[in-house]
Amino acid sequence: MTRKVALVTGGSRGIGAAIAARLAADGADVVITYARSADRAAAVVKEIEAAGVRGLAVEAQAADAAQLVAAVERTVAAFGRIDILVSNAGIAPYGPLEEVRLDEVDTTLAVHARAAFVLAQAAARHMRSGGRIIGIGSSLAERVPYPGWTLYAMSKSALIGLTKGLARDLGPRGITVNLVHPGSTDTEMNPADSPEAEAERGYTALGRYCDPGDIAATVAHLAGEGGRNITGAAITVDAGTTA
Ligand code: NAP
Repeated sequence: MTRKVALVTGGSRGIGAAIAARLAADGADVVITYARSADRAAAVVKEIEAAGVRGLAVEAQAADAAQLVAAVERTVAAFGRIDILVSNAGIAPYGPLEEVRLDEVDTTLAVHARAAFVLAQAAARHMRSGGRIIGIGSSLAERVPYPGWTLYAMSKSALIGLTKGLARDLGPRGITVNLVHPGSTDTEMNPADSPEAEAERGYTALGRYCDPGDIAATVAHLAGEGGRNITGAAITVDAGTTA
């Protein structure tokens, strides 16, 4: 990925930080965005730079379309191009159906679906042939094994249609568009030692959580030369939760 430039949203921790580190290790310059964790984003940038490539952190609230477009423009201004976009920033609203408020519905759809649309639209203006757009969905878009996740599942399944539509829009320009659906993955969003973790493990075929690096490895494959003929696809990395 030498001379490629990647933008990873929500790169300050968890899955996004692992993706940023992996793409940097593979030779790409990497811009990450964060919402609140400026210090942690700076630490990830140091890790990126330690791989011998350029790194940059930009604050961008996922519900703010103007900030997302600005992050894309900042990437191009700083590093001259954008080849890989990974829309990863996310939240995990959870709770009884009757308690979900309308503003939570709007925020969740904005952070997951609208943000991915806005970022793809902005990045596509700059991407050349060989460009890669990758969304981070969830296995809960394919199977919801427990109650309380309707809103989250709805917002993540919107990415399936977005991915297929973009694959058709951008295929003629040589740009691929794909989705990676993580299952239970050990991050602050879903720690592998939480009270719920044992039940989540029980839903997997392999009996274990994914590590953020497992998701990053699939993203790296899609972003690299090996992914050149994969487009419009959703790849599930969930230790068999949806099996
Ligand atoms: P995480 O550890 O909670 O990290 C979330 C990342 O997103 C952080 O970088 C955070 O930035 C950023 N972020 C959160 N809210 C944001 C907002 N409103 N605007 C902009 N950035 C925001 O979560 P994760 O587990 O790595 O999850 C990453 C993605 O994987 C999400 O899309 C999530 O839905 C998906 N996923 C996770 C799991 C899992 O089990 N962990 C399973 C399936 C799918 P700050 O650090 O600045 O807050």
